[in-house]
Amino acid sequence: MKTYLRMLTLLQGMYGKLIVKIILGLLITVTYVGQAFAVAVSLKSIFLAQGLENLPYLLAFIAAMVLLRVVLLWANEVYGRKTIHVVKTRLREKLFNKMLALGPEFQSANRTGTVQSITTDGVEALEPFLIMYLPQVIVTIIGSGFLSRFIWQLDWVPGLVVLCGVLLAIAVPLISTPVTGKIILGYWRSYAALNAQYIDAMQGITTLKVFNVSKAKGKELAGKAWELYHHSMKGLTVSLLDSTIVSWASAAGIGFATAAGAVRVMGGHLELAGLFIILFLTVECFRPLQDLSRYWHQSYMGLSAAKNIFDILDQEVKINDPQETMGQNLGFGENEKYIPDIEIKNVSFAYNGGSRPALEDVSMKIEPGETVAIVGESGSGKSTLINLILRFYEPQQGEITVGGQNIRDYSLAELRGLMSVVFQDTYLFYGTVVDNLRIAKPNAGMEELIAAAKLANAHEFIKDLKDGYDTVIGERGIKLSGGQRQRLAIARAVLKDAPILILDEATSNVDAESEQKIQEALDRLTQTKTTIIIAHRLSTIKNAQRIFVFDNRRLVEHGRHHELVSAKGTYFRLVQAQQA
Ligand code: ADP
Ligand code: MG
Repeated sequence: MKTYLRMLTLLQGMYGKLIVKIILGLLITVTYVGQAFAVAVSLKSIFLAQGLENLPYLLAFIAAMVLLRVVLLWANEVYGRKTIHVVKTRLREKLFNKMLALGPEFQSANRTGTVQSITTDGVEALEPFLIMYLPQVIVTIIGSGFLSRFIWQLDWVPGLVVLCGVLLAIAVPLISTPVTGKIILGYWRSYAALNAQYIDAMQGITTLKVFNVSKAKGKELAGKAWELYHHSMKGLTVSLLDSTIVSWASAAGIGFATAAGAVRVMGGHLELAGLFIILFLTVECFRPLQDLSRYWHQSYMGLSAAKNIFDILDQEVKINDPQETMGQNLGFGENEKYIPDIEIKNVSFAYNGGSRPALEDVSMKIEPGETVAIVGESGSGKSTLINLILRFYEPQQGEITVGGQNIRDYSLAELRGLMSVVFQDTYLFYGTVVDNLRIAKPNAGMEELIAAAKLANAHEFIKDLKDGYDTVIGERGIKLSGGQRQRLAIARAVLKDAPILILDEATSNVDAESEQKIQEALDRLTQTKTTIIIAHRLSTIKNAQRIFVFDNRRLVEHGRHHELVSAKGTYFRLVQAQQA
């Protein structure tokens, strides 16, 4: 019930539009009732052979009602779609912003396919509830309420029968909701799971082929599809049962009311004309209810989707702009020559607040303009440290300062504005080379882009692409090699021109020749910046002034290359292992 009420808030600012929808719905009901009245009066005059001269007018009136209804139904539909479009767009935007705010933690905790189901199909599924069911509730209460009262006034016996039928038709869906709710939630879950599995399989299609397991994966998918089928059959059963009861209640209501009316006519309590009117109005009295029941069933998917949507919206954003400054900048980035230091003080951190730390009591200081390297075996916590400096996660202990300020005092935009990062894998979006470069600096002119690409040793290969800088790359665009992608990433870093540069295994996916080119580009870039280089290949860190060595989540030693080699510690062993 809470979910339903909360769904009302999705219509915030749209209540006026909802009222228009209700009025349109009521007008549609009025056309049905008007038509029913005219038919009843026509029948009466035919039966009693009175006032037959009015028949052509009555028929014209009926035709007018039908015509008016067509127009109203059309307007109702179009108006509804337009309204709901705004609601859906707004909600998707809200979800997207929320997921952005939740950041990498959200991403690593949720499957792409599941999230995609919620933001596309889930939001879509809200439509029937919001724009059909909700207005219909009011239309039904007013329409059916008014009509049953009218029938009651004509004669209380059929009136009572109609009232009972109406109450039954309202009660059944309410009673069955807890059961259907559960079933539909199961349906939605298996739908999202199938979607997630499918996307996973599509993305890993090469791997599946290479290992010759596409058949097995296909079977797994078929299994998921069966699950979905079972859930949807269950849902269908309950839903059919439920709507059958509502139809019965309506049919029985109409039948009994007419029978009761007939008995009253025989007893002399009611005129024949009244009976005709009761017969036709009872039908109209149940029509909104049947529509309501139909809309209710169309809304099911949306109700369970809403729960998933609210679950995302309710997740707590742990990393926020500081309260006091309310996201105002400290002004560090404004001085172009500003080069900050970075200090890590006794930092400990475990992912998901868990007990298995990824970093333990790490302290280090990087001077303004210094280039340092971080080395260590894979899993020793190097990337985790970068995640903390970027404030993707918050350390459980200790603090990090940039330019002498705790990073928590920066607005997130300002903090991240101070840093350019080149990761091991560079994400290229679907779009042209230019689009992908402008991510780093949206207003950069073509000349600036080319200059950055030249500095990153990327210009040569971009020039040779099919459409040069306008070639579409990224998902479904042409494929670039690992080295080419990394050079684009470096061009992005050049464009961003932030005072801190972080390279997290930026060259570990590329061949030796590309690495050479990338290295040249990096050497140019690091000169005026505070730089952290994480590298697997020790050859790439020869320019580092100091080297920090991580082992098993701890910073175990630091110093210059020759110092560390003669200390014969962890670093020495790493060097030896690579030389062998
Ligand atoms: P490195 O970059 O030195 O190879 P990482 O910092 O990536 O190592 O990882 C350190 C430890 O933290 C590893 O044990 C890894 O499994 C764990 N880890 C890394 N990222 C996550 C994450 N998003 N969620 C949970 N654990 C993680
Ligand atoms: Mg790493």
